[in-house]
Amino acid sequence: PGTGPVSNGKRRLGVMGGTFDPIHHGHLVAASEVAAQFHLDEVVFVPTGQPWQKSDKRVSPAEDRYLMTVIATAENPQFSVSRIDIDRGGATYTTDTLRDLRALNPDTDLFFITGADALGQILTWRDTEELFSLAHFIGVTRPGHTLADPGLPKGGVSLVEVPALAISSTDCRARVAKGDPVWYLVPDGVVRYIDKRELYRGE
Ligand code: ATP
Ligand code: MG
Repeated sequence: PGTGPVSNGKRRLGVMGGTFDPIHHGHLVAASEVAAQFHLDEVVFVPTGQPWQKSDKRVSPAEDRYLMTVIATAENPQFSVSRIDIDRGGATYTTDTLRDLRALNPDTDLFFITGADALGQILTWRDTEELFSLAHFIGVTRPGHTLADPGLPKGGVSLVEVPALAISSTDCRARVAKGDPVWYLVPDGVVRYIDKRELYRGE
């Protein structure tokens, strides 16, 4: 894949993976900023599958996370949402996501967007070598985390500064549980969806 903002004529597709439980303005600003800086044609948001194992972390149903992601991105013609990880089922591995997206998008360069915290875990991911042949990686700044190249293959990753939004889904869930507002942390439609589905109430 291309490694920078220089165009080689191929379609340029950003990939924003996440649990999106719920999606918030930190995700949206990161995607929008990378799309502009890297001249992406589109950014596809890919909510993760539902982990089947009992884990210490409770995750909302995939359909709720998917719909919140659709609601949050619907107005932006450059943004779309993919169900591939949800429909594959089980825990999501980024290699599977990128492999499937490659198959679905011929003649397209993929740019996998990840926050500083997630980039730090990248070397612990499965099939690291294959990962970097599938996409160019873009690490974005995130308040509270240091953005550093964790020893990735040369040219395989770009580090990008995005407007700082100290928002996390964990904090949004905790706020809803306490009855604190999440207005302006997440899109209005997502506030209403959380309310309608009574998400995060009993946590
Ligand atoms: P949680 O607290 O549940 O882990 P989160 O806010 O970290 O939620 P995720 O769905 O885990 O959201 O994140 C998806 C991707 O978006 C990750 O690569 C993460 O680093 C990035 N990201 C999340 N929040 C921000 C933010 N405020 N600024 C920049 N990147 C972010
Ligand atoms: Mg996270």
